[in-house]
Amino acid sequence: MRTPVELIAAKRDGASLEDEEIRWLIDAFAADRLPAYQMAALAMAIYYRGLDPRETRAWTRAMLDSGRVLDLGDLGPARVDKHSTGGVGDKISLPLAPAVAACGVFVPMVAGRGLGHTGGTIDKLEAIPGWRASLPVERFRALVAAHGFCVMGQTEDVAPADKRLYALRDVTATVESIPLITASILSKKLAEGIEGLVLDVKVGGGAFMKTREDARALAETMVDIGRGMGKRVVAYLTRMEEPLGRMVGNACEVAESVEVLKGGGPDDVVELVEVLGGAMVEAGLGVSFDEGRDRIREAIASGAALARFEAWVAAQGGDLSALPTPTGETVVAAPGDGWVSAIDGRELGLVAMSLGAGRQRQDDVIDPAVGIRVDAARGAWVSAGQPLATVLHGAAGAPPGPPEPRGYSRPLGHGQQRRLPHWGPQSGRFGEGYSRAVGLRPTLVRACIRADQCRIRPNSRPTSRGCGPRHSVRRFAGRPGSECRTAAVRLPQSGAVRPAGPVPRRGP
Ligand code: URA
Repeated sequence: MRTPVELIAAKRDGASLEDEEIRWLIDAFAADRLPAYQMAALAMAIYYRGLDPRETRAWTRAMLDSGRVLDLGDLGPARVDKHSTGGVGDKISLPLAPAVAACGVFVPMVAGRGLGHTGGTIDKLEAIPGWRASLPVERFRALVAAHGFCVMGQTEDVAPADKRLYALRDVTATVESIPLITASILSKKLAEGIEGLVLDVKVGGGAFMKTREDARALAETMVDIGRGMGKRVVAYLTRMEEPLGRMVGNACEVAESVEVLKGGGPDDVVELVEVLGGAMVEAGLGVSFDEGRDRIREAIASGAALARFEAWVAAQGGDLSALPTPTGETVVAAPGDGWVSAIDGRELGLVAMSLGAGRQRQDDVIDPAVGIRVDAARGAWVSAGQPLATVLHGAAGAPPGPPEPRGYSRPLGHGQQRRLPHWGPQSGRFGEGYSRAVGLRPTLVRACIRADQCRIRPNSRPTSRGCGPRHSVRRFAGRPGSECRTAAVRLPQSGAVRPAGPVPRRGP
């Protein structure tokens, strides 16, 4: 076999690696026999040169085999999970898992924490006082058997090679690689002992995949590799520009999920729960997608999904009745009349994170009550002074501010995000209950909601971005064995984006 240096050079020059070479690399890295600098160099070579389908399959298999695969076979073949590639306000797993379980499909879900500007399912659930993310595998299995689903954090023995490699990719700018993302996601998910997997591949400015082409390539690769490993896999491309639902944070997203389980909640969250849930029931029980979606609707309407969620939270130590609520609110008002033409979910996620809803450093402590509520949806008409968004305060009360930001005078653009934690005279001021230096400048939040574009001329038409479908869903590979295809499902425009204000007139 070639030496590590020869393997790195081969990939750098565009050559293929053999299956046994890939297995050796992953095993050696997981066992600390391959130094991180060599794996980092290899990851960068893969970032540029890619892996072909055979190599991607071998890489995924080796990562999966680096840890244990849960054996839940005694629960029967209806074991299905969902994985989202990450977005802002993405609380879908919370209402989805109990709804699918209420339909008779087992959902063993190993979930993650927030990453960058995106929130994590585990951080949201940890907002429930007493709820425990870390469970012995036997307890996890018992909870899945008893409640039909269970969510827990990643453990040391589930795909440990991914845990190490993901941390390395995170600091070596090698996350955005389709074969590496494929292996990372599939190795973790297939270690859960599932038979089916529904992938929610986010696309847009608030997602890791910014273009449809990249998202589609990732979806197709994951579907192909997952099916090649004998699993029932479907993928959806779903839009991630503005946040999903109205809430961005932790306790507030749990509360919004409970609203969905009670039959309410924002249209886009409900829509995704029904679509992804329908596909999970289809994969688990072999019924049609429409039948699966109807069963999900029924599970929510009957209260069965809510009852499962409440019982499971209690079994895992949580007290939903003690969910933290905001200690106060700061309203961010529209500076003028107009249509909300865009909401920058990524920037809003960064603002929420800097206020304490997420971590900027691994040891940051999250304040579960902190969050942002989006009051004006994309496409909505707002008058001057009407709320665009509301900042929800945590234990420390109102964030300090509004300070004069250092070197900052324009609405935030993507290139400026790194300044976010450092702005204002409060920089470096710790110890007031906030785990980091924060300030609240309403223009910062307004900039995320394109307040500048609210200055659209009166009587002009809203832009197509402003009134397009709030949430479009594309599905790949509808049935096991079928060809991948696009646009098999295109959901109707949600009512939430229809302009709520006066109908604009054209011309004088
Ligand atoms: N999510 C993962 O779990 N892995 C990746 O590589 C990217 C997103």
